[in-house]
Parts: sequence; C-alpha cells; structure tokens
Amino acid sequence: MQFWSKYFIPTLKESPADAEIPSHRLLVRAGLVRKLGGGLYTYLPLGLRTLRKISEICRQEMERAGAIELQMPHLHPAEFWRDGPRWTAAREIMYRADSAGDGKRGPSEPEFVLGPTHEEVITPLMKNEISSYRDLPRTFFQIGAKFRNEIRPRFGLMRAREFVMMDAYSFDADDAGAVRSYQAMKAGYEAFFRRVGAHAIVVEADTGVMGGSFSHEFMVPAEVGDDDVYFNEESGYAANREKAASALVPADHADAAPAGAVEEFPTPGVVTIAALAAAPHAVPADRQLKTLVYIGDGKPFLVILRGSDELEEAKLGALGFAVRRPATPEEIEPVLGARPGSLGAVRGTIKNPGALAGIFADHAVRLVGNGVTGANRDGHHLRQVNVTRDLAITSFGDFRRVLPGEPDPKGGRPLQVRRGIEVGHIFILGTKYSEKFGAVYANDQKQTHLLVMGCYGIGISRTLQACIEQSHDADGIIWPWNVAPFHVLICLLDPQLPEAMELAKKLGTTAEQAGADVLVDDRDERPGVKFKDADLIGIPLRVTIGGRGLKEGIVELKWRAAKEVQKVPVAEVGARIAAGVSDRAKSAGS
Ligand code: ATP
Ligand code: MG
Repeated sequence: MQFWSKYFIPTLKESPADAEIPSHRLLVRAGLVRKLGGGLYTYLPLGLRTLRKISEICRQEMERAGAIELQMPHLHPAEFWRDGPRWTAAREIMYRADSAGDGKRGPSEPEFVLGPTHEEVITPLMKNEISSYRDLPRTFFQIGAKFRNEIRPRFGLMRAREFVMMDAYSFDADDAGAVRSYQAMKAGYEAFFRRVGAHAIVVEADTGVMGGSFSHEFMVPAEVGDDDVYFNEESGYAANREKAASALVPADHADAAPAGAVEEFPTPGVVTIAALAAAPHAVPADRQLKTLVYIGDGKPFLVILRGSDELEEAKLGALGFAVRRPATPEEIEPVLGARPGSLGAVRGTIKNPGALAGIFADHAVRLVGNGVTGANRDGHHLRQVNVTRDLAITSFGDFRRVLPGEPDPKGGRPLQVRRGIEVGHIFILGTKYSEKFGAVYANDQKQTHLLVMGCYGIGISRTLQACIEQSHDADGIIWPWNVAPFHVLICLLDPQLPEAMELAKKLGTTAEQAGADVLVDDRDERPGVKFKDADLIGIPLRVTIGGRGLKEGIVELKWRAAKEVQKVPVAEVGARIAAGVSDRAKSAGS
C-alpha cells in the first residue's frame, strides 16, 4: 500500500507544449515520465510501475514460448558491427560512444557504439557457445535499453532515442526448425499483447530480399500511428503497406489481343501522366504505361506500372538487389535514349537494352492490354502498345501500392486501411548473420552447417504508451487491469478523520489480499482536485471514503471505465472490493 502524501505523483493541469498526441500529453500530465531531452525520458514512479508490469508479462510469455533470458552489454566494441552484415546501413542510426580516445582513430571510426539491437553481439557469442546439433534449438531474449539516433524523435515514448525493447534471437539447425521457433514466438507475442490489454493486429510484413511470409508486425490500431495496415476482417487478411497485395488481376484474366500496329505520335511538352490524360491527348491514366528507372547494384533496371498506379518502393526488395535507388536523368538518357517523361519499354525503342539488369512489370500492367507509353524519343509517345506483344518484360511482380477497396488476396473482399503503431516485429533472418560471423554447428554426421536464425522485438516502452493511446478519455488514462500502476485507489476526502484512515487501511489490506496494488490518496486536498487526479492517473477502481458518507455508513465505489457511482454499506464494501478485484484479474487473464 502506498500513501500519496508520501509518494511521488506530480500531476499537471497543463499539457507540455511539445506533446502532439493524447497519450504523450497524458504520460506527462499523469506524472508517469519527464523529458530530459529530445527522445529521452525519466520514468517517474507511476510510469516505472507500469513499465515493470509490462516487462514482467513479456518475460513470462517469452519463457512460456521457450525462450531463455540473458543480458548483453549496451556498449558494443565497434569491431563487432564492422564484421557484421549491416555496418554501412546501421551506422546512421547508431550512437557512437567513444572514450576520451587515444587519438589514433579518425572521427569516422568509432571505438564503441550503443546497441540499437543485438544480432552483432549474440551471433558471435553463439558461434563460440553452440557447437553441436544437441545444443539446438535455442531462443534467447533480454529486456533492456536500446539506442537509436532517430532523425525525428517524437510522440514521447513512441519514437525515442533511448527506449526499452524486448529482443530475442532464435538458433536452429535448419529452416523447418527456424519456422517452428518463429511460430512459438508468434504465439508468445499474441499472448503478451492480449495480456497487456493492447489490441494488436498481426500483419504480414515486408521481408526485403528474403521473400516468403516470415516477417510479421504487431500493430496497435491508432489514428496517430506511423504505418498503414491493410486488412479485411472477414477474410482474415492483414498486411502492412509495404507488403499489402490485392487480387486486382483476376485469376482468369485473359490478356488482350493486339488492337493494331504500334503508332508514334507527337506529344511536345507532355512529360507527366496527368498531362497525357488531359486534352488534347485524353489518354486515361489507367491506359498509360509508366516506365521508372532504378539503379540496382550499379546497373539500371526498369519498372513498368499502370499510369494510375504508384510504386511501392519497398516491394522492389523482392528483386534481390542489395542496394538500389532511382536513376538520375543523366543516367537514364544514354540507356533509354530519352529523358523522363518520354520513356517506354517497347522492344526496339530502347537505345542500349544490353545495359539493363531487367525490365520488371507490375501484374496490373496486364489490365492495360493495349495502351500508350513513351517512345524513348523526347516529345513522343506510342499508342496501340500491346503488353504481351510489344514489351520486352523480364518478369512480372507485385510493385504497386494497393488502394483501399481493392479485393484482398485471401477472400477477395474489399481492403480497408487503418493507421497503426508498430509495437512488435518478428523475422526469420536465415543465415545472414551466421554466415558473416561463421556461426556453425556440427550435425549428427559431424558435418558443419550454418545456424539458422530468427530475430524478434517488442517495443516495451512504446507498448506502454500505445496502451494509453488506445484506452483514455477526455479526463485521463483508463488503464487495462494488468498494466495499471495501481489497481485500487482509495480516496480519503477527510484524511484527518482517524476512523476514515482506519477504514482505508482495512479496505486496502482486503484489496491487497485479493491481489490488487493499492494507492491511498491521503493528501490534504479538496475533493475536486482528488477526483480530477484520480481520473487523470486512471486507476481502475476508485473507493471514496468521506466523513459524511461514514456518518450514513456508506462508501462509494467507482470503476474508472464506468459512469455510475455505487454507494455501498460499509459492512459490505470489503467483500465487494475483493470480488471486483478477483473478477477483473480473472478476465484480464494470466
Ligand atoms: P519503426 O519502423 O517504428 O522505426 P523499427 O521497425 O525500426 O521501428 P524494430 O527494429 O523492428 O523497429 O524494433 C522492434 C520494436 O522496437 C518495434 O516494433 C518498436 O515497437 C520498437 N521501437 C523501434 N524503434 C523505436 C523507437 N525509436 N522508440 C520506441 N520504440 C521503438
Ligand atoms: Mg520493425
């Protein structure tokens, strides 16, 4: 039992100026955190209590999923990252933590970095510790601070520079084993999010060059989220924007027969889809073929889309180029023979086809049938271009951004889109890290094989805030039972009355025995202030004891999520509280 007058809950009437979203405002106003600097927060006692509860639920579910807890350093010798597969990419988000320095290293050669995750630490560790198939499978996890130099830290704990993550790593003998470990962790995640009271949707996520569907993100639907979730509840389809597909091209689609010979026509000054769609040419955007040029691993390649579609850049990851970027006009002209605005992929019009690493068309291009595209001659286009007959396509793929309302790929029902917050991520890594670090094991024939890995992350501190974002009203937080800093708030309107204090302690003990964490508001404050603070900090059950009520033999119970106040005779109130506590605890699950 904590007594507010001796505890530390600095609530605020005003929101901090930099808090743009409700959960951020409430975090600060309810006295859960204080800002130290951009993306850096101190957890005050109330915030820390919730953080600990979320961490503990996570720990229990990870252990239930078979994972084993350990703890790695936050400070990493930079060598480990230099030896790993993502030094170049990860450097930008890593904080360097150099010592005073011996002056031997240049400013671009850090001695230490602060860990943004721990693949580079755990893989070399397991290379040394795991030698035989008998040591497999193993999944390890830890819960601790991560450091990322986010370009724009914002929304409080949502995107911080230092934040708390549960990160886990699985090690298996083969792909089938890795999938089993992955599924066990996925089930553990589902249990975790259910228990903390966050309604997270599991979505298929982009795996870049990996392919397959062995990456899922856990998204909490919220207007303020950074990500789009495409879903249809009935079909059970859900994917993030980078991965979302649709059944736009029907399975029985028959490609159009040619409508006539290809014709060139002048289009001076027309360099956009919109301009070609306008008078005098009036070619609807979905009859146009758009040609984009990218550079993949140093070589140009083309992506063909319908004029009406947008490229979803992440989907190009499936093509397998390690590094890719849009080509510049200077790079495009020598290969295609024209500048952007007049580009196309019609056979025979490309100036230097041998320079191309491939021509990749989106499936929806087949719906164009006969369309209009650039002639690879500035100021000219071609019409009656037949997709099958005239385009030199290397392969078809899914490259376009899906639009709401399109049929989902699972059940053909209309896709809906909702904003979401990514609270967790699971991923099969394969042998990317074990190959780099030489992490192998010997099988029963004494042959060595690479360890097959998976990695897993839950944003513990982001989940804390997502719970608030999902569960609050105009007056404050409405904590889900399992993560509430306290479950029962005993509000003493006349704390100086000995019989009131005595009853508070008695009811507090009863509630504790039923399994609740209890806070007693014994401050010398007006009732109005106490009720406002009670709503703000969002403790699930408020028990109000006042001098007047005591004279009538009455105590008031109010659930934070409900409107009505129940007046309960003093003789019955202990039993009512105990029953309420065990009910809530039971329905919140453990
Ligand atoms: P995001 O796309 O939001 O930047 P991410 O995909 O880079 O996140 P992961 O590397 O998948 O993040 O990390 C695992 C989890 O850690 C994320 O699902 C998220 O919940 C949490 N997380 C990542 N970055 C931050 C951050 N800057 N602040 C708070 N939590 C974070
Ligand atoms: Mg992620």
